[in-house]
Order: sequence, then structure tokens, then C-alpha cells
Amino acid sequence: MQSPVIDTPVLIIGGGPAGSALAIELGWRGIPCTVVEEGDGTVDHPRLGIILTRTMEFCRRWGIVDRVYNCGFNNDYRLNVVYSTSMTGYLLGRDENVSCNELQPPPQSPVKRQRCPQMWFNPLLEHAAKEYETVDFRHFHKLNGFEDAGDHVVAHCYDSRSGQAVHIRARYMVGCDGAASSVRSALSIKMSGRPVLSYSINIFIRSRELLARHDKGEAERYIFVGPNGTWANLTVVDGRELWRITIIGNEQMMNLAEFDAEQTVRQCLGTDDIPFELISVKPWRRTELTAERFRKNNVFLVGDAAHTMSPTGGHGMSTGVADAVDLGWKFQAVLEGWGGSDLLDAYDAERRPIATLAAATSANNFRSWVSVPDCENVLQEGPAGDVCRAAVGQHMLKAGREDWDSLGLQLGYRYETSPICISDGTPPPPFSVLDYVQTARPGSRAPHAWLADGSSTLDLFGRGFVLLRFSADVSSASLEDAARESGVPLTVITITDPEVARLYERKLVLVRPDGFVAWRGDACPQDASQVIDVIRGVPTRALASV
Ligand SMILES: Cc1cc2nc3c(=O)[nH]c(=O)nc-3n(C[C@H](O)[C@H](O)[C@H](O)COP(=O)(O)OP(=O)(O)OC[C@H]3O[C@@H](n4cnc5c(N)ncnc54)[C@H](O)[C@@H]3O)c2cc1C
Repeated sequence: MQSPVIDTPVLIIGGGPAGSALAIELGWRGIPCTVVEEGDGTVDHPRLGIILTRTMEFCRRWGIVDRVYNCGFNNDYRLNVVYSTSMTGYLLGRDENVSCNELQPPPQSPVKRQRCPQMWFNPLLEHAAKEYETVDFRHFHKLNGFEDAGDHVVAHCYDSRSGQAVHIRARYMVGCDGAASSVRSALSIKMSGRPVLSYSINIFIRSRELLARHDKGEAERYIFVGPNGTWANLTVVDGRELWRITIIGNEQMMNLAEFDAEQTVRQCLGTDDIPFELISVKPWRRTELTAERFRKNNVFLVGDAAHTMSPTGGHGMSTGVADAVDLGWKFQAVLEGWGGSDLLDAYDAERRPIATLAAATSANNFRSWVSVPDCENVLQEGPAGDVCRAAVGQHMLKAGREDWDSLGLQLGYRYETSPICISDGTPPPPFSVLDYVQTARPGSRAPHAWLADGSSTLDLFGRGFVLLRFSADVSSASLEDAARESGVPLTVITITDPEVARLYERKLVLVRPDGFVAWRGDACPQDASQVIDVIRGVPTRALASV
């Protein structure tokens, strides 16, 4: 029997969070795509658990934010961070946080972060992707190789259920196939950065009694410090009975044959008396790596295939989802014919610096976790031990802040070097991982503000470009004409609320389909067609700030 050949505009390799997010983004835009995933969709060992605010904003646009809020996590469980010597050992410090239910969205966003472990988040995204008729999601399909033929890609897959080869011809292919990406290897794209921050081991356990049998109170994470520094942490998974322990390790690979997982769990618990069931043990390598390019001809890298980072801060998956959102509208533009020949290159220019920043921030978080000064006496009884524990507690509380509180990076990442955003000549505001001051400066996420009807400004963005007009006196005609002539979908929305106008700072603000500001000014630019050409990736002569 002849192997089937499938035609698709976009082929996505890998149906993890990055692949599913890209499929949703394309489905939402009406762009057909095919996802091939070698597994069956089951997550037997959850890694990610925290869904940061920017990802929740995308989930709001996709109409699935309530599904994430109501994913099944115990939303009454308090998300403190506890520093201790074990679950039943000395308490070193506690960062008090509220539960998911009590948490309010930050003033800069209509949504808030949410805990949703991967065994629920992956299927939730996959389910949302499959709701689009245009998304063809195929499990048990493994990519074995591909050729880039210049104007299309042919991918050779294997359906492990039918035993059949399946060939897929796509205009574009995207490797969302994780850290060990075979797509990236086939393209000979190198990763740069730090290949080993530590060799770590995850231990996934069930313990129904843990919560009732320790004295540290509810926490999102319990971080264990010993005389040699931080050596492990225990993370909540479902807020009831599932927990994940991470043994931090070091730059030397651990000898797994000698690793006693049960004994290690008991060490974390600080007692032999709390019963638990060992579900799975997974070694992994903590890295700070970014691919040297995110695109080669018709093939793109998204998610962990493009960048890997320490989970300290919870930025890994969220960075991948933001890649997918950045790429989705660009695919729509070129496939519908209104995107220029440079548009897809802007994906690399925009996302690679952000991935490098997120990976560096995550590595800094990791370093401040593990480098604990003067902790030799942390287990010692008596006054010398008390003094040591107080100092270690203070150090950890300070060191942990960027890890738990990073709105500046989550919402404030900006496309400073983007070739498709037009500078307005204002200097970049200072960047802080911690603090986020909203700005409508080109290259930045368009600010959130509540509108009179209870919606957010963010709800206005997505389908095409949006020209926000903050004064009835200013004409938007030449931009509208230029957009119409080049087929760029553009909606003009007039906002009269002076507070929102103040936030956006100019009378006209042009927002891209991914919610980033492309251009702003107090009047239409002299050469509106050139502005429209730049923002849709048509090669143009150099444009001064307009
Ligand atoms: C301990 C830990 C905790 C973490 N916590 C968080 C967190 O709280 N928040 C957060 O944002 N991030 C977190 N991360 C990072 C997060 O897990 C990853 O960034 C995320 O899973 C990457 O998603 P992805 O879709 O790019 O890759 P993956 O999740 O690795 O998915 C890749 C998919 O591709 C498939 N695939 C691979 N090769 C092929 C092939 N040849 N053919 C077909 N299919 C293929 C695989 O089966 C897999 O399903 C954590 C990571 C770790 C290690």
C-alpha cells in the first residue's frame, strides 16, 4: 500500500505545550495546520506547574482562561514559599503568599497566574487545539526526517499504531519537539550558553498524609537547605496529595545506579514516618541554552527546541508559548499574502533575545537559590545554629524574590531590536525583572486598562492590526488607506477615556495582532504606506522614527 501524503500549510512537530499553543494560535486565526506527536498525550511525570500571567493573557484571548483557573488544582491551597532544613526540620523562613482563589490580577493585567500541573495543562491545550476543525492533531506520529525543498518541506513520519509511513508536505514546518529536538539537530543549529548548570533528579510522589503530618504549613515550594547549601525542593502538584521533589545536584552527573529515591524522599520529609508512594523518578539536565538561530529557510524552532532554561522562575513553557504567539500571526500574514518577505525573519529577531534574557534570569534565580553563604551550622542545635538559621533564612527570602515575583519579565519583555516595530525616538525605559511599568512604546506589549464595558484593552487585540485613536480630532485615514491597499487587516477603535489615553501617551497607537505596539504618533505618518510596509515585513528603505 502506498504511504499517504498529507498537505498542510503548517506542520508542527511535537504536541507539547509549545506545539499545542501554536496549533491553537493558528486554529484561532483560521490557518490550517497539522500536529504530529509521537506520544499518546499522557503526561506521566509533570514538570511545569505554574502558568505565568502573560500565558494566562493568551489563554484569555483563546477563550480558555477559565478552564485553566478551574483545572482541578486545589485553589484554596496557600502558595507560600518555605525555606527549611526538611519538611519536619528547622524552619528558616517563610514568604507568605495567598492561594490561587485569593490572588488578584496585578493592576497591569486582566488575569492572574495560576497553578496548573502539566498532566492537566498539556491535555487542556491539546483539547482546545482540537476544537478547531482546521487543526489536524495526530498522536503516535513520529517525525523521522525531512527535506526542505525551497518552497515547501516534506516530512517523513511514522504512525506507530498502523505501522505506516506518512509523508507530510507543508509550506512551513515548526520544530516544537522539545529540548532534544531532532528538527534542530537535522538543521545543524547549535545551542549557545551553559550546557550544564546542574544534573538534577525529579521524584514524583503521592502522599495523602503529608499535608497533615508536617508543621511548615501549605506552600507552593519547600526549599531545603543543608550545611552545603540548597540541596532539594518539594513542589506542590495538585494541592492535595501529589508532590514533586527535585534534587538540585551539581555539575557532575549523578550515578543513578547508586541513587536511592525512597531514602532521598525520607531525607526531604525529615522522617521515616510519613507514608508515600513513589510514582516516578526522572533525571534531567538544568541548562541555560538558546539556539543560535530560530529559523532556517522554511523550518522554525519554538519552545524548548529553541531554548532551555532552569525552571527557577517558571519561565520555560511560558517563553515557548510566547514564541508560538509571535509566530502565529506572521504565518497568517504570509499565507494570506499580506505579509512581506522579511516578516518571518522578524520571528528570530524578536524572540531570540527574549529567550536569552529569560534563560539568563532563570539561571540567576538558580544561582541565588543554591549559593547560600555561611550555612555550615544550619543543622546545629543551640544558639550558634539559631544565628546561622536566622541569617540563612534572611538570605533565602531576599534571594528568592525575583523567582516568585517577576512581572517585569513576564509582561515587560519587549522587542527592542525588531525590524518590524518603528521607534518613536523615545529612550527605552529601564528594564527590571521584578517591576513592570506599562508603556505603549513601540516594541512593547500594549498596556492593559479596563474599559467602561468591563472589558480590557487587551480584548481589543488579536484578529488583525488595531489602530487605537485617542482623539476624535485626529485623522487615521492615510493609515487606513495604506492598510487597505496592502491587504493588511486593520480596525480603527476610538477610545475616549482620558486615563487610557494617558497610558498610551499618543493620539494614534498601532497594535499588532499579537498585542505588541508597532507604531505610535500624534498624527498619521507622512508616508503611511511605508509604515504599513515596515510593520508587515516588506523590505523598505531605512525609516527614521516617524
Ligand atoms: C522540573 C521542571 C519544572 C518546570 N516548571 C515549569 C513551570 O512551572 N512553568 C513553565 O513555564 N515551565 C516550566 N518548566 C519548563 C517546561 O516544562 C518546558 O519549557 C515545556 O515543557 C516545553 O514545552 P515544549 O512543548 O517546547 O517541549 P516538550 O514539553 O518537551 O514537548 C515536546 C513534544 O514533542 C514530542 N516529540 C519529540 N520528538 C518528536 C518527534 N520526532 N516526532 C513527534 N513528536 C516528537 C514529544 O513527545 C513531546 O510531547 C519546567 C521544567 C522542569 C524540568
